[in-house]
Amino acid sequence: MANDKTFEVALTKCYFCSEDADIVINRRLTKKAAKQVAEMHGKVISREPCSKCKKYMEQGVIVITFDDSKTPPNPESTDDLYRDGGFYVLKDEAIERLADWPEFNEKAKSALLKALEDRVIFLPGEFFRKLIEKED
Ligand SMILES: [Zn+2]
Repeated sequence: MANDKTFEVALTKCYFCSEDADIVINRRLTKKAAKQVAEMHGKVISREPCSKCKKYMEQGVIVITFDDSKTPPNPESTDDLYRDGGFYVLKDEAIERLADWPEFNEKAKSALLKALEDRVIFLPGEFFRKLIEKED
């Protein structure tokens, strides 16, 4: 059955926290525009942080953890990571402290320092939880 609606409302998801992000409506009242909006419902449509994540990013760096064993080898982007649901916010000082650890190679260090600019970093969950245990 054809959907003849010319107006739709969608609620998008935040790329970072996966929670509800923005309400989208179509301004052009055409079937095509309405369909496009309907398709956005429940989906991540941008890398723009939601208002909550924006606040977290002001306070620190968001750490999103993933399951290494379920993630394909050499993932092309953070989209390919199999997230394990871990979501943390670390103060900049904590990230800097981690980057100073002699256990880390240069690649890991530069990733941590880049996270200070990006305000977000994706880390393997098991690894990260070991790290924060050590921090205590
Ligand atoms: Zn968010």
